[in-house]
Amino acid sequence: MKFIKSQAELDEVLESLRTDGKTIGFVPTLGALHEGHGSLIARSKRQTDFTVCSIFVNPTQFNESTDLAKYPRTLDADKALLEELDCDLLFYPDVETVYPNGFSDSPDIDLQGLDEVLEGAFRGGHFDGVVQVVKRLLELVKPSHLYLGQKDFQQFSIVQFMIDYYEIPTMLVVCPIKREKSGLAMSSRNMRLTPKNRERAVIIKRTLDYAQRRLKNHFVKEVRAYAFNRMKIDGFRPEYFEIVDGRTLKAVESMDESDYIVACTAVWAGEIRLIDNKIYKKPKTK
Ligand code: AMP
Repeated sequence: MKFIKSQAELDEVLESLRTDGKTIGFVPTLGALHEGHGSLIARSKRQTDFTVCSIFVNPTQFNESTDLAKYPRTLDADKALLEELDCDLLFYPDVETVYPNGFSDSPDIDLQGLDEVLEGAFRGGHFDGVVQVVKRLLELVKPSHLYLGQKDFQQFSIVQFMIDYYEIPTMLVVCPIKREKSGLAMSSRNMRLTPKNRERAVIIKRTLDYAQRRLKNHFVKEVRAYAFNRMKIDGFRPEYFEIVDGRTLKAVESMDESDYIVACTAVWAGEIRLIDNKIYKKPKTK
């Protein structure tokens, strides 16, 4: 496996692969890798000739500097896991490589409101940072396939919009959410939960499941409020529980409003903010 920090080295390896007509799968991450990331890498390995994983804790997508400072950094363990997964290349650039002209150089794109709801309503500027870093990493890696997780539903929706908008020749592949045995969605942030809150956090997945069942004989509005309140347990503070159209991300009032419906939620478990989602209705073709 190759460990690469600079653009020049990256170009050298990837250019020759491209010349040989090889497909390149790309898994961008913030590091502190877990099985969720591993599932993206495994999928890329199955579908492409060469898999690149990146680790870059992107400052521009953190709206709180304390969150950025406290984000877990476990490079040695990450490298060991990537070796185990037989990933072909780890790209772990410095800020200067990703942003040679500084942070202000961000893409000017109207996300049609996709960035204003859900996460966007609570994390101002977050998706500007996500679009900025993903666009730049795609410029650097130029992958044929990009692997993102359904865990960050709004993120992959916005990245797909950006890929279409800039006509970037990369195919986005979305992978299912990997969960711990308890049902808690795997996340790098889970390691910062207190043992008690880690146990309690199963309420999130259970609420997503429960709300889906309740929709059979209750109005969306009622279910939304019920689910939100259900997660107000000791030490937990739900931020939102929304049932939205999977394409526009706008809240729906009825399950008949769209053929693609997803429930998305964010909850503070003590000091740690967790997100999760569940697709309630999936279109035949997306
Ligand atoms: P992150 O390092 O949190 O930015 O995540 C990097 C990629 O891994 C993103 O595309 C995430 O959606 C994906 N990911 C994170 N957690 C999971 C999970 N539990 N299951 C599947 N994919 C995940």
